[in-house]
Amino acid sequence: MTDGRALALAYLKQQQMLGGDAVILNGARSTEHGAEALPVAPTPVANAPSSVLPPPGLSFDPPSGDLFAADPVQRTHTLAEIAALVHDCTKCKLCEARTNTVPGEGPTNARLVVVGEGPGRTEDETGRPFVGKAGELLTKILSAIELPREQVFICNVVKCRPPENRLPQYDEIAACVPYLFRQIEILKPAVILAMGGTAAQTVLNTKQSLGALRNLVHRFRGIPVIVTYHPAALLRNPNWKRPTWDDVRIARRILDS
Ligand code: SF4
Repeated sequence: MTDGRALALAYLKQQQMLGGDAVILNGARSTEHGAEALPVAPTPVANAPSSVLPPPGLSFDPPSGDLFAADPVQRTHTLAEIAALVHDCTKCKLCEARTNTVPGEGPTNARLVVVGEGPGRTEDETGRPFVGKAGELLTKILSAIELPREQVFICNVVKCRPPENRLPQYDEIAACVPYLFRQIEILKPAVILAMGGTAAQTVLNTKQSLGALRNLVHRFRGIPVIVTYHPAALLRNPNWKRPTWDDVRIARRILDS
């Protein structure tokens, strides 16, 4: 099999994993198991992976933790210590209606950190981030770039569920964000994937729209940040799956570089 053919087949398979429409290529329809059965070599795919990265975007470099600081968040050394602080946290009003805190989960050696907005109902019930339908879609998105979910650290900007899934408010984000920043500081990932406007604006300290922030390689304390749509938004608007696919491939290329 030629490199071009292998590339195109991998592309088709990933499109299907993302839930894309059926693909017709040179008269052959790719199926869940039948990509290898394509009868003829495909023509080049317009958006096949490229090694070219988008231009640089914003850079946010907040002060790092101070192990001698009075703030206990800054004195943590591990993700478990942060989760324990989150568990007992009452720094904002979101503590009042929560069932469980949702600090985030994933291995300490994760090279990719996914940041979402805040826990929803299922996350609040389970204490786990990105579960339910949006979580299933995130798992598919990660699989499409050959990253098992178990290898990724997944978390949110706020660690307790906003009532009725409303957007987290400014004071809630300000109270909670030290946990996120300390998690990133401990993890030192190769890439941060900010999913949704709240995550992107928080990690990059900006009010720019998600549309303006996409397709650029931003930096948080020097770590590349890629901005894309939140999986819950993709469930509402499947047309955004394609641009999301483009975004996560950028993250993949940075991981591979
Ligand atoms: S959302 Fe964050 S700051 Fe607010 S109570 Fe929960 S853990 Fe504390």
